[in-house]
Amino acid sequence: MTSEQQKLPAAMQLRRRDARILARRLETQCVHAGEHQDPIPARPSTTPIHLATTFTYPHTRELDDVLASRTPGYVYARYASPTTNALEQALATLENADAALACSSGMAAVHLAIVGSQVRAGDAVLCAADIYGTTYALVNSLLPRLGLQPIIADFTHLDEVEDILRTRRPRLVIFEALTNPLLKVIDAPAVVELAHRYAARAIIDSTFTTPMTLLPMNFGADFVVHSLTKFLAGHGDVLAGAVLCRAPDFEQMYITSYQLGCNLDPHAAYLALRGLKTFPLRFERQCANAMELARFLESHPGVSRVYYPGLPSHPGHALAGRLFRSGLFGAVLSFEIKDGSAQKAFALMERLRIIQPATTLGDVQSTILYPAHSSHAALTEEELAKVGISRALVRLSAGIEHVEDLKEDLDQALRSL
Ligand SMILES: *Cc1c(COP(=O)(O)O)cnc(C)c1O
Repeated sequence: MTSEQQKLPAAMQLRRRDARILARRLETQCVHAGEHQDPIPARPSTTPIHLATTFTYPHTRELDDVLASRTPGYVYARYASPTTNALEQALATLENADAALACSSGMAAVHLAIVGSQVRAGDAVLCAADIYGTTYALVNSLLPRLGLQPIIADFTHLDEVEDILRTRRPRLVIFEALTNPLLKVIDAPAVVELAHRYAARAIIDSTFTTPMTLLPMNFGADFVVHSLTKFLAGHGDVLAGAVLCRAPDFEQMYITSYQLGCNLDPHAAYLALRGLKTFPLRFERQCANAMELARFLESHPGVSRVYYPGLPSHPGHALAGRLFRSGLFGAVLSFEIKDGSAQKAFALMERLRIIQPATTLGDVQSTILYPAHSSHAALTEEELAKVGISRALVRLSAGIEHVEDLKEDLDQALRSL
C-alpha cells in the first residue's frame, strides 16, 4: 500500500456523514448537515472566522450559567464572539488595558467611550478644538441633544484647559495626543493629571499615536479609543474601532456596547487581527518614510511650510521627543503648497502617480488628502481658521513604499504646478 492509500481511511473519516442527519429529509439536511462537528484535537494556528451569531451547549444548565454570567462563554454574538474576542484580547494586551471592546468603526468607538464613561444629562464635556472632524461634529451636535454641554478648548494651552476644569467642572475630557492635520503634540500625561485633579475622566483617541508611539493607560488615561481602520489594521480593507478600559469601568462599557449594538463583525475582526500582526513593521517603515519626506519637503522650492513633529522646526518637537517612543514621530505629515489654493492642491493630488488621493490614513499605500474638504469639512470657515488649517494645506500619510519613489512622485507633481 502506498502511504496515500493508508491515509485514505482517516481522510474519509473526516468527511463522514452524521447518521442522525442522514435519516432526515432534504430540507432538514440542508440546514443541519455538516454543522455541529465534534471538535478535533488539532488547533488552528490562527484564529478562524466564527460567524455564528449564537452558540449551543450540550446541557441547558451550561447555557444558563453563561447567560447568568456565572461562567464565561459565548451565547449571542452581540455580547461576545470568538474571533472578535481574539482581537479584543490582542488590543488590551498591546495597550496595557484590562479589556477592549471592538466596535464597528472608530466613530462607534468614540461614541461608545463617551456614552459608556457614565456622563449624564447636564454634565459638561471638554473637547479639543482640533480633534478628528467627525468627533468634533458628534460632540457639538449629538451631545447637546442628549443634554450634555460641549466645551471646546485648545489643548496646547494647559492653563486654558485647567481654567475650564476649575470653573466649569466638565465630567469628561476628550482629545488626541497628536492632532490632525497639523500634528500638534499635546502633553497628554499633563492633561490626564489635570482632568483627574478636577474629578473628570479622560478619553484619549490614540489613532495617530498608536501603541508603538504612546501608551496612554500607563500615564493614567481612563479610556483609550482607536480607529483600527487606520494603522492597526493598515491595509485599507476594513472599518473597525475599539475602546480600551480598566476593570472597574468594564461592566458599564460592556453593557453600553451591547445596548448600542456597536460591536465589530467577525469578518472585520479577522482582518483587523491579521493586520495587527505586521503593524510594528509597517509603522516603523511608515514613520521612517514620513521623517524623510518631511525633510525633503521642507527644502523643496514648491513648499512653503511642513508640519511634522520629527522636524526640529516643529513647535512640538521637544515634547514629542519626551513623550513618544524614540524616533517614532508618527506617519502623517502636512505641508502648505507655495502660493497654494484649493485649485493647486487638487492639481497636485491629480498629478501624483503613486501617492493616492484618498480620505484615509495609515494604509500600506501612501495617501494624500485636502483637510479643508474632507477630514475637517464639518468645520466652518471660522473654525478652520481658528485651528490653523489653511487653503494651501495638504495632508500626507506615508505608506511602506520605497521612499525614493515617494520623493520622485512628490517632486514631479510639485514642479508641474
Ligand atoms: C479615522 C479616525 C476616526 C474615525 O474612525 P472610523 O474608523 O473612520 O470611524 C476617529 N479618530 C481619528 C483620529 C481618526 O483618524
